[in-house]
Amino acid sequence: MTSDNFTIIGGGLVGLATAWRILQRAPKAKVVLLEKEAGVGRHQSTHNSGVLHCGLHYRPGSYKARLAVAGVRQMVQFCRENDVPHDVCGKLVVATDEGQVKRLRGLHERGTANGLTGLRWMEPMEFRKIEPHAAGLAALHVPEEGIVNYEKVVEALARKIQELGGTIVTDSKVTASKRRGNEWVLDTPRGEVTAKFIINCAGLHSDRVCRSAGETTELRTVAFRGEYYRLKADRQGLVRNLIYPTPDPQFPFLGVHFTRLMRGGVEAGPNAVLAFAREGYRFTQVNPRDLTEFLTFSGLWRFLWQHRKMCAFEFAQSLSKDRFCRTLQRLVPDLRPDDLETGGSGVRAQAMMPDGKLVEDFNFVRVDGALHVLNAPSPAATSSLAIAEHIVTQLQA
Ligand SMILES: Cc1cc2nc3c(=O)[nH]c(=O)nc-3n(C[C@H](O)[C@H](O)[C@H](O)COP(=O)(O)OP(=O)(O)OC[C@H]3O[C@@H](n4cnc5c(N)ncnc54)[C@H](O)[C@@H]3O)c2cc1C
Repeated sequence: MTSDNFTIIGGGLVGLATAWRILQRAPKAKVVLLEKEAGVGRHQSTHNSGVLHCGLHYRPGSYKARLAVAGVRQMVQFCRENDVPHDVCGKLVVATDEGQVKRLRGLHERGTANGLTGLRWMEPMEFRKIEPHAAGLAALHVPEEGIVNYEKVVEALARKIQELGGTIVTDSKVTASKRRGNEWVLDTPRGEVTAKFIINCAGLHSDRVCRSAGETTELRTVAFRGEYYRLKADRQGLVRNLIYPTPDPQFPFLGVHFTRLMRGGVEAGPNAVLAFAREGYRFTQVNPRDLTEFLTFSGLWRFLWQHRKMCAFEFAQSLSKDRFCRTLQRLVPDLRPDDLETGGSGVRAQAMMPDGKLVEDFNFVRVDGALHVLNAPSPAATSSLAIAEHIVTQLQA
């Protein structure tokens, strides 16, 4: 390793997994994790769909493909070893028109190229044995996918870090990072923290933390809120496990879907709308600094223009339960708006280029004395242990 003294900024799944992997590899290393909230894992890592993605959707050879395939296997093993509730229940990806059937065949090939096992193409008679209320022309069954309680993964990782001698310091927002000689001096509300090597895992704030450490990056983190409904208790029988649509390749998100939750119940969503604050969990939550940064970023305006139809559709769907339900009815026609009650939400950190293109893959920037994780959107929860392994390898380079 390049150092024996690491400070990790951000205690989501990526930061926690990184701290744990470093301590596993270098038991004598000094590892400190700084988290701005009063506890770890309070943002993306516990405001998500709770799905174990196994690498179906991602371009072969990309970080996402490699680290999801390796990551889901590592995560399932971690859950087994640490009594974390999970269920590898399989997922159904449904095509509801001829165009989608063609795209779903492409996904089948992609999943096979990524090394997934057990993928099966199914006609309606067959997929209805798995999900009796699903409708469509064809479906792909993905047996390696599942569901997990990520809150419990966060707890288990935090416990393991402390058992190995690592330190987690909460209420410690890093507001500035300066070089002094060959070490870093980080400003936090609890005072200065010195570090030899910093690893930025700050999720929704990762671009800011990167710039405050003196790096110039053209990437910006843009916040997209995902809103959920819950199926009322007496209608949860409409969904057994996971029912997903065939995604639109023009858009980075997977489309609203049905997810059985490990803690009980069934969620429908999430949609994807621009948030007016990096941690804007509600439509009315506005952070003037975040909003100004978003609105003065030319990339965002280009993105909104290039995807104007999709953005308008998502916005309208966010405002109207009936519209949201109509999209879901393509997958489960028996669903009625009355079956849905308002659920929670999460905010995705998605890196964007100045030309309006979304950064598709995970992004890591390694510089002297620091490594910045500048894009870790879905499936980074599933992949967190494999991402951490990748980071540790980078530290040895
Ligand atoms: C709606 C939604 C659904 C999703 N569904 C799935 C799914 O089903 N499966 C899946 O694999 N992935 C899913 N994802 C993606 C997944 O949740 C994220 O990719 C993953 O949790 C990212 O982890 P992280 O550690 O990078 O970020 P985070 O969990 O956001 O952690 C970053 C941490 O850094 C802290 N921090 C920020 N700035 C500072 C600072 N200056 N100083 C100190 N601390 C700081 C924050 O407080 C936070 O705790 C979903 C995401 C969303 C939003």
